[in-house]
Amino acid sequence: MNLLTVGNPKVLKGMKQGYMTYILHLAPASLSGYNTCPKATTGCKSACLNTAGRGGMFKKGETTNTIQNARIRKTKMFFENRVEFMASLVKDIELAIKQSIKKDLIPVFRLNGTSDLSWEKYEVIRDGVIYRNIFDAFSEYQFYDYTKILGRKVVAINNYDLTFSAADGNDVDVYRAIAEGYNIATVFGVKKTEPLPQSYFGREVINGDESDLRFLDAKNVIVGLYAKGKAKKDTSGFVKYPTVMLKAA
Ligand code: SF4
Repeated sequence: MNLLTVGNPKVLKGMKQGYMTYILHLAPASLSGYNTCPKATTGCKSACLNTAGRGGMFKKGETTNTIQNARIRKTKMFFENRVEFMASLVKDIELAIKQSIKKDLIPVFRLNGTSDLSWEKYEVIRDGVIYRNIFDAFSEYQFYDYTKILGRKVVAINNYDLTFSAADGNDVDVYRAIAEGYNIATVFGVKKTEPLPQSYFGREVINGDESDLRFLDAKNVIVGLYAKGKAKKDTSGFVKYPTVMLKAA
């Protein structure tokens, strides 16, 4: 496959539930010279999963690696040669479907693994037919993402599930997202050995680290995530500290 990858630890958890998530990782924010995250914040950029796992392993003295270079290459292709990129994405999704069927798994797709693009806006051609977007082209398959962009025109897209992401400085958007019926992903500064808070913003908190299959979540919940990697040292407000919240309340 050229664009999609599988294999992060949460995806492996999803396999136990019968799903295989194929993820597109682009270069986040403006790393490639093109902005893929219009609502990125200082805190989320610094804690971004772009440098989680092998993506963040650099040889001594080097500031990039093959994974980062591949993400930049794909992002440039998306912006500079959209037709070729979308054709390649269609091929990859078709291949992923075949692979999953062989493994008796249901393929699901997350196109904003490390970006926040509004995929509903981009036309695509499949088998010579022009579709409004990739979701229409593969209407029988489930897509899902996290986003910080409010007002995306996705309500009528039945096979695309969006979870809104809380971050530093976007509380107003979080309130609006809750009013619009989104679940809210929130990173909590809680040790893995301790429980997540039971509620936040007046909503029940579920453990979002148990799987990445967000489209299976109950509605009107907070998807709690444990701070990982660089997020453990966050002081920007991206990571939420329940004890501080309680004191403030
Ligand atoms: S919006 Fe998401 S993908 Fe983009 S920099 Fe922030 S955390 Fe990373």
